Amino acid sequence: MVFPFNSSLDFNIQLSEEHELFRKTIREFVEKELEPIAMEIEKNNHIPDELFEKAAQLGLFGVGIPEEYGGQGADHMNTVLMMEEISRVSPAFGTAVTVHGLFVVPVLLYGTEEQKRKYVPPVARGEKLAAHANTEPWAGSDIAGIRTTAKKVNGHWVINGRKMFITGADRAEFFVVSARTSPPPQDKRWKGITFFIVERDTPGFKVGQKINVTGLRGEHPHEIILEDVKVPEENVLGPIGEGFKVAVNTYNHGRVNIAAQAVGIAQAVFEKSLNYAMQREAFGRPIIGFEAVAFKLADMLIKLEAARLLVYWAATLANQKRREYVMAASLAKTFATEVAEEASAHAIKIHGGYGVDVETGVERYLRDTLITTIYEGTNDIQRLNIIRELLRQVFGAPINIT
Ligand SMILES: Cc1cc2nc3c(=O)[nH]c(=O)nc-3n(C[C@H](O)[C@H](O)[C@H](O)COP(=O)(O)OP(=O)(O)OC[C@H]3O[C@@H](n4cnc5c(N)ncnc54)[C@H](O)[C@@H]3O)c2cc1C
Repeated sequence: MVFPFNSSLDFNIQLSEEHELFRKTIREFVEKELEPIAMEIEKNNHIPDELFEKAAQLGLFGVGIPEEYGGQGADHMNTVLMMEEISRVSPAFGTAVTVHGLFVVPVLLYGTEEQKRKYVPPVARGEKLAAHANTEPWAGSDIAGIRTTAKKVNGHWVINGRKMFITGADRAEFFVVSARTSPPPQDKRWKGITFFIVERDTPGFKVGQKINVTGLRGEHPHEIILEDVKVPEENVLGPIGEGFKVAVNTYNHGRVNIAAQAVGIAQAVFEKSLNYAMQREAFGRPIIGFEAVAFKLADMLIKLEAARLLVYWAATLANQKRREYVMAASLAKTFATEVAEEASAHAIKIHGGYGVDVETGVERYLRDTLITTIYEGTNDIQRLNIIRELLRQVFGAPINIT
């Protein structure tokens, strides 16, 4: 036993020639279509429609979606490689191309066959975009604290409330929305939440103000207002009152992608810093000749490759449908996002004044990486997950940690 895992075989990473071929295809797309406009996206705080169209033509929206629902049927490793490659150039577009996963995953995990056939294929083809609306002004990490309600009235559900920080809301046509359908029993706060599929043009559903966050410019989240939004019974997603599980399993599933996004960022800032350190001269020699700079680069590379291994390992466990994946994804997300944060700060320092000149496109990575440490579960919440999963593995039952 390699505590807390069973054996050294649990640390296998399975990558194939096909994965590498896929990575190269994404790299080509990114260099041709994304790189030339990455700074434009940053400056305008807007991703052009044509880029979405080109990504859809290449099938990028369907990468992780089964073929029977219109996707490419590729595995978790492919999704991770795609996120890494896109985020190396534009983390914002990485989010834009993958955020619909937070809609598709709960529909595939909990939806009826009819819901899957109706909602997943258009999203997989990139014809319709989709988003996930759970966070509220008063509840983020504390999912059980949501105040949006859904009440059954004459055979329909009527939803009222507000959602906050909803990525992709400006373009999405389909949403999964969480709401409280019954008050929680005193000792089980998480009970009584239900997810619904809501279409954008439903009366009373309004996408509100844009939230001007520091990073991922171009893919800014929005507020959502729900006023007497009438939803038919067939749009209930999953068991009534069990929405907490829907949310947790959705985030468990997608978390490794945020870790991959961080690896893409760390890769970008490492490459930029190495190039700069080779070219920039001070005191008559390239600055890479100074130990202070060289050691920063060495640290960046050590942690970058360690983060990459964690991410590929978590993706391998996900492909194998192993329970250990849940912990591995939290390990990968926490480590990779913090590595990316540190590497982005090092990159700024190595670039000196040019590191904080927005025109060079170096400082943007630090702003982007801060978001990766927060969304899809803050790193504090990941640390809680890690210990909860560890105790579950050791003692077989969850132990309450607050
Ligand atoms: C750019 C962006 C995009 C987003 N996109 C979406 C989206 O598409 N859909 C969606 O539903 N949400 C989205 N979110 C919301 C995101 O998931 C939440 O911001 C996140 O879960 C944290 O919630 P919060 O902001 O309410 O912070 P809080 O939960 O209030 O946390 C505040 C601080 O307290 C800490 N904390 C809270 N509880 C604990 C605890 N039990 N133990 C230890 N520390 C704790 C947190 O780690 C954090 O440091 C997005 C957020 C951002 C910034």
